[in-house]
Amino acid sequence: MARKRGGRFRRALYALAGVVALLFLVLTVRAMGGSDPPARLTPLELTVDSERAAEALSEYIQEETVTPPPIPRDPRPAYLDRLIERYADPLGLEHQVFGGRSLLLRWRAGEAGGGPLVFLSHADVVPVAADEARSWTHPPFAGVVHDGYVWGRGAIDDKGATIAQLEAIAALQARGLTPHRDVFLLINPDEEIGGEGGAAMVVQRYWERLEEPFAVLDEGSFVADDMVPSTRLVPVGVGEKHYVTITLTVNGAAGHSSMPRESDAPRVLAVALGRLAELELEPRILPATEAFLDRIADRMPFHERLALRNRWLLGRFVHDLLAERPASNAMIRDTIALTLLDAGVADNVIPARAQATVNLRLLPGSSLSEVLADIERQIDDPRVQLDVLTDEGDSAPAPIEGEVWTRLESALATAYPAEGTVIAPMITPGTMDARFFASRGVPTYRLIPFVLDSNERGRMHGVDERISVANLEEAARVYAHLMRYW
Ligand SMILES: [Zn+2]
Repeated sequence: MARKRGGRFRRALYALAGVVALLFLVLTVRAMGGSDPPARLTPLELTVDSERAAEALSEYIQEETVTPPPIPRDPRPAYLDRLIERYADPLGLEHQVFGGRSLLLRWRAGEAGGGPLVFLSHADVVPVAADEARSWTHPPFAGVVHDGYVWGRGAIDDKGATIAQLEAIAALQARGLTPHRDVFLLINPDEEIGGEGGAAMVVQRYWERLEEPFAVLDEGSFVADDMVPSTRLVPVGVGEKHYVTITLTVNGAAGHSSMPRESDAPRVLAVALGRLAELELEPRILPATEAFLDRIADRMPFHERLALRNRWLLGRFVHDLLAERPASNAMIRDTIALTLLDAGVADNVIPARAQATVNLRLLPGSSLSEVLADIERQIDDPRVQLDVLTDEGDSAPAPIEGEVWTRLESALATAYPAEGTVIAPMITPGTMDARFFASRGVPTYRLIPFVLDSNERGRMHGVDERISVANLEEAARVYAHLMRYW
């Protein structure tokens, strides 16, 4: 009897061991499988005039284009004519100005090949707070060129991108090369304040002048050598999150702070916010994020690759791993951030009203009404009134297969021939002008080909924003490959 039971137990153990071994084999085989590398074309030998690029960027930084308030229309902003004189005229680019402030430059292809490629950038920059200005190594609007860097507000975001795009045209022309299709550079005002009077206006009122773009490239991500071990990561934003701002308001009765009540507006709001802070929305992995994880998996240490390539089984574990960092957490879920609090006039008066402003960033395709319902359920207090203050609208991600993606990938792979380079689609957490084009159904991608580490990226909108002259040159080279091969 005892022996018989032992035999059955052993057989069960063998079976289990077999299953585990098979599972491990499946996981390992899947972990080893890589993605097909994109086709590589002939790299272009180009000479970029980096001295002129640095000088032009320095001059551009010195132009006053801080928003808010919107860039004035009258008199006509000086940077428009500077860019035309310095680049458009000598390079033979056609130019038009929309709404007095949006500049469209056009470089015609030898023979028209389908819709144009539109490179977007914006002329406005965020302000520098007075107390921050003192911390800058060089004054933020002096455009100092020093130690191989151009220093100043807008060097990265986004004036440097405009100059690199113009230098790309110059470098191609110097080699007698033409673009694959017409190239449009569209330089808009007011991106940092929502783009209503800039890119949105152009899309609404001058859409036909853009001649049904083949694709659009905007800002939205950077090349990074410090995100994945021994890898140059070229993340291409194929979609962006849906920007929504809501307010939570409690209206109660004003009173003396010596006799507090449960129903005091700030108190009710504080309890609601405590509950809201506990709310974490369910993760959702979009196809672009799937592709991103698959591609970076190839470059990860074995145990991480094992997990990333076996998300069908280890999904929970992978989600937890991604949730650890704010940047990767934002890739997989709708996020909720408390940004403004408003209540009270004096320390001994209980105010009648308390309000919180909450910024939501939803993944493409997430339902705003469902997220609002989740928030209401979580707060579970009818005294807290929820209102939508801003809704920038959802837009569908651009394709990650088919001609437009394959050509983009192949142009980038040609510009970045080094071993250990990964080109991967992603959803960008930020909001940019690209969304106006994406919502028109144009394949819209987001990348500025500056190679920035976390320190350099952190200067954007911060102190000591700068871009290296080497980066300007490199970005011009990459933009040139896109103009020639996309
Ligand atoms: Zn920007």
